[in-house]
Amino acid sequence: MVNLVCPQDKLPLTSDLKCPKGHVYRQIDGIYDFLLGEPKNSDVLEKVAPFYEGIYAPLGFLITGRTRYSTILREAGFYSSGEEFLDIGTGPGKIFDYVSCQQCYGLDISLRFLRILKRNRKNVTPIRGDAMSLPFSDESFSGASAMFVIHMLSDPVQALSEMSRVLKRKGRCSLGLLTKNGWVANLLAKWWKLELRSESFYIGLIERSGLKVTGEKQMGPWSLLKCEKT
Ligand SMILES: [Zn+2]
Repeated sequence: MVNLVCPQDKLPLTSDLKCPKGHVYRQIDGIYDFLLGEPKNSDVLEKVAPFYEGIYAPLGFLITGRTRYSTILREAGFYSSGEEFLDIGTGPGKIFDYVSCQQCYGLDISLRFLRILKRNRKNVTPIRGDAMSLPFSDESFSGASAMFVIHMLSDPVQALSEMSRVLKRKGRCSLGLLTKNGWVANLLAKWWKLELRSESFYIGLIERSGLKVTGEKQMGPWSLLKCEKT
């Protein structure tokens, strides 16, 4: 098990999920819960909820025509596989079909999806938490991914900085992003009420987070960026 920390102050937690400052977390049906009800930042839910509700239809419909969803996940999973692996915004955990890991963690804000993950993928530890405030100690993971998540968040810079913090040196990450490329991207951004950014905008953010971009692939409105912690 990687070391869990209090997401608020990053202090180490006891085995019953208590922090020295008095914050207490819990497990629900084997799911580690660091949100305890509603996320404090209501922006997060407002931005992320439509994504979860609408993800399968739009992805299925829009990606299948150009590149298969599974092809993107396979490439991302293969690239960032590592002994300790974290998928941020994992949903039902589809990427774990393509990841090779000894200690596998899936993080999401939705209990509903984490229950599906737990039922179908027994080797993955389900964590309910916020991508912008991760409950893991520094340099815990040799691989990480965030597929179609970062662009939905109110503070992508903070999410990237957290991903970088929990990665080991030379740890690899894969990011799937909605980027400004064509009318489908415009349509999805309008639908999800997102500010549409270019791929180079995200590359700039990633590199300022202490990660190096090692590969890039544009598939219609989606970018797959491969990165490594320097
Ligand atoms: Zn605390």
